[in-house]
Amino acid sequence: MAAAPCGSACVAAPWGAAQRQAVKISVLNRMQQVSPHCVAGKVRRVTLPTSNIYSQNSLLLNLRPCKGSCQQRGSRLAVRAAAQDYYSVLGVSKGASKADIKSAYRKLARSYHPDVNKEPGAEQKFKEISNAYEVLSDDEKRSIYDKYGEDGLKGSNMGMGGFTDPADLFESLFSGMGMGGRSRGGSRSMATEGEDQIYNLVLNFKEAVFGVEKEIEISRLDTCGTCNGSGAKPGTTSSKCSTCGGQGQVVSAARTPLGVFQQVMTCSSCNGTGETNTPCSTCGGDGRVRKSKRINLKIPAGVDSGSRLRVRSEGNAGRRGGPPGDLFVAIDVLPDPVLKRDDTNILYTCKISYVDAILGTTVKVPTVDGSAELRIPPGTQPGTTLVMAKKGVPLLNKSNMRGDQLVKVQVEIPKKLSKDEKKLIEELADLSKAKVPNSQR
Ligand SMILES: [Zn+2]
Ligand SMILES: [Zn+2]
Repeated sequence: MAAAPCGSACVAAPWGAAQRQAVKISVLNRMQQVSPHCVAGKVRRVTLPTSNIYSQNSLLLNLRPCKGSCQQRGSRLAVRAAAQDYYSVLGVSKGASKADIKSAYRKLARSYHPDVNKEPGAEQKFKEISNAYEVLSDDEKRSIYDKYGEDGLKGSNMGMGGFTDPADLFESLFSGMGMGGRSRGGSRSMATEGEDQIYNLVLNFKEAVFGVEKEIEISRLDTCGTCNGSGAKPGTTSSKCSTCGGQGQVVSAARTPLGVFQQVMTCSSCNGTGETNTPCSTCGGDGRVRKSKRINLKIPAGVDSGSRLRVRSEGNAGRRGGPPGDLFVAIDVLPDPVLKRDDTNILYTCKISYVDAILGTTVKVPTVDGSAELRIPPGTQPGTTLVMAKKGVPLLNKSNMRGDQLVKVQVEIPKKLSKDEKKLIEELADLSKAKVPNSQR
């Protein structure tokens, strides 16, 4: 990718029509990640406001496919049929160990392998088993899947569409022959997309509420400047690969408990290009070198723990002219000692004396905007929640709209009274008895 230095200018307004700018960011709202089912109202709330601003699919990455009627609600919702849960495909529990998963896979794969099982549907089943195993056997993919489901994998460009050929997976497990990477054979052009990167960013409470600009330093694989990403030493010419004879692929046979399998593998000498060359001394032939880069991020108001920002094209550079991956910024928000956050509302508990509860008062309460006055009306009951309108968190994609601060009133009853106080309270008690002459004695 073009390694244009990115100053703050290119992120100054990424939340509006910035999709064409050098650094493109979109936000994955936490709301979308947490709702496993589509309550109709909730879906509308999530999808409609976002469509104006984030015109790219990325916003919907973590939306789980809805099994209900919401599937027709606009083309932007994922409409792919809900896939079966990977754990149940392998017949293991959510907490299954790696060994359990491997053994479950081996057992199932053996009985559904298309070379063994000719029943209709067996091949499909074999694919499902393999997909499930590929995700659950990889710690990173499994954790993404556990958190965000299949769409999370799709979003992070891991798995889903990029699954290893089930036969390869089977092969590698049964014969112990690694596949030497994920590159598929058959293509001479070995342009591959760069990997996505994840950056964990911790924000303090108010930064998350109001948004903040942050400069972060990332370490990414960038296109090697010496060889322009070709991996070949400049000035040298390439020659036909002697291992594969220029085919880019080699055929090998593997003995397994089910018989001998023939396998077409990408030639490891030339990485499938069919050519060998003197490797570039800067990048060792990879075409990429690790570089650190500073990026300015404009974090929008209203993000929360679990929000993910996507910075387009700031992942690793692609290989041999492939497109770069994306950078995902995973947000974690530090708690505030007194203010609690509930989505777009702020929760606060204030303590007042029983006298103030009876007579009413005005108290100072902390808000995200600083200290503010709150009127406690006379006769306020313990546990009452008072609403300070629009003192909450700005909506993620509509920062002119805000949630509320909800103040729960806790009334303190004194455990000890002074002599004078006791006397007055007793007088008060007599007064209320006099008021209600028929009350029981
Ligand atoms: Zn190089
Ligand atoms: Zn070769």
